[in-house]
Amino acid sequence: MDVISPGDPRYDEARALFNAMIDKRPAVIAGCATPEDVADALDLARREGYEVAVRAGGHSVAGMSTNDGGLVVDVRPMKHVEVDPTTRQARVGAGVTWGEFDRAAQEHGLATTGGRVSTTGVAGFTLGGGSGWLERSHGLACDNLVSVDLVTADGRQVTASEDENPELFWGLHGGGGNFGVATSFVFRLHPVGPIVTAGLLLWPGEAATDVARLYRDVAGTAPDELGSGLVFITGPPEEFVPPHLQGQTLVAVVGMWDGDIDDGADAMAPLRALAPEVDLVGPMPYTDFQCLIDDPPGMRNYWSAEYHDEFPDAALDVFVKYGFERQSPLAQQILFPWGGAVARVPEDATPMTKRSARWITHPFAVWEDPADTDRNVEWARAFRRDIARYTNGGVYLNFVGDEGQDRVRAAYGDEKYGRLATLKREWDPGNVFRGNHNVRPA
Ligand SMILES: Cc1cc2nc3c(=O)[nH]c(=O)nc-3n(C[C@H](O)[C@H](O)[C@H](O)COP(=O)(O)OP(=O)(O)OC[C@H]3O[C@@H](n4cnc5c(N)ncnc54)[C@H](O)[C@@H]3O)c2cc1C
Repeated sequence: MDVISPGDPRYDEARALFNAMIDKRPAVIAGCATPEDVADALDLARREGYEVAVRAGGHSVAGMSTNDGGLVVDVRPMKHVEVDPTTRQARVGAGVTWGEFDRAAQEHGLATTGGRVSTTGVAGFTLGGGSGWLERSHGLACDNLVSVDLVTADGRQVTASEDENPELFWGLHGGGGNFGVATSFVFRLHPVGPIVTAGLLLWPGEAATDVARLYRDVAGTAPDELGSGLVFITGPPEEFVPPHLQGQTLVAVVGMWDGDIDDGADAMAPLRALAPEVDLVGPMPYTDFQCLIDDPPGMRNYWSAEYHDEFPDAALDVFVKYGFERQSPLAQQILFPWGGAVARVPEDATPMTKRSARWITHPFAVWEDPADTDRNVEWARAFRRDIARYTNGGVYLNFVGDEGQDRVRAAYGDEKYGRLATLKREWDPGNVFRGNHNVRPA
């Protein structure tokens, strides 16, 4: 175990998370390279009375993977990726990011549903469900789990799979970091790429309503191979954006086709008919597409999300209005279509409820200056209030910060929350792992 404490020259780098809003000072950051290190770290926390947080990729927007004055189990040293092209499975250490996993799997032309941003940690992402571009053809990341190795609150090493500790395995399909420290994951892989039709289409703000309506109709009925999102952005000062669009509100479609390259071009054709001013869709390596929307760390972030069964014009009007009312040029207003393989998983098969939702809205406030915090946070909250009458009451927890216990319950529904609470009592009765969207022990 590599212990980093205040005063260590590595301390500030080790404690930093993706979201610059989070500035916490743990007493101990325990770098863990093995399950034994994790057990030692948990033992130290128990003896010294430290509160525990578990950290992998550091992308928790609410900063739940760190704390003030406690101990952080930092799994980043667990960096192994072993891909078996014969069985189409990969064993992945808990410290691996999606970029690292994707590159290793793509050497064999394989992939599984992963983060839309390559720096996200495999661990936190998957335990929270795991929504990515491949989800409509292959399900969420958690739907592709074969097994998970964990260290429990009392230091035991256990495996969860269909055959071993199956109820625990069920809980790991979206139940988050509530039940132990995951040290490695085995995933099912699928042939993907390595070249896919993918990219970005951009229109000026004047076209927003037309584009949004067409997008809803196209993406809502598209084959499962089309993974996409509708995004409001501010035209960045980049070469690919014509000067008259830079600094302006733009509407974009980002997407990829998980299949034949020419079929992908056909799938994008209806959107191209609306004459985007920028068309960067074409054949590209899947690993490049997976980095296309990588954001720099060090910005301030506040996000929320809602599920929708339908997205009528009136809901789209609210969505578009808030696209224009973003409070920072870095903020995004995002609409993702669900359905496909996500919805084909039976409701009881995982803790996540309302997987039949057809759409997710995801107000994504990002800004730089601390003085702009209140108006950015209020923007996301106001969108939630105005879109409330079109939601189905469910929520995808990976896309929200700390929005209280009611939202955790809403993500699972009362019955499945109860089942998770019983599981929590079995594996973590003292709620050692409470730095998360917390399920309280029954
Ligand atoms: C820029 C950005 C883009 C994102 N894009 C997507 C997306 O496309 N789809 C999506 O679904 N989500 C997305 N997310 C959300 C992300 O999946 C969650 O925040 C996830 O929890 C991050 O995992 P992490 O390991 O990077 O985070 P961390 O901050 O390290 O961990 C987050 C939480 O996960 C748990 N955890 C982490 N590691 C372990 C472990 N080894 N064992 C047990 N529990 C653990 C802990 O409870 C911890 O509090 C994105 C986040 C960011 C910042």
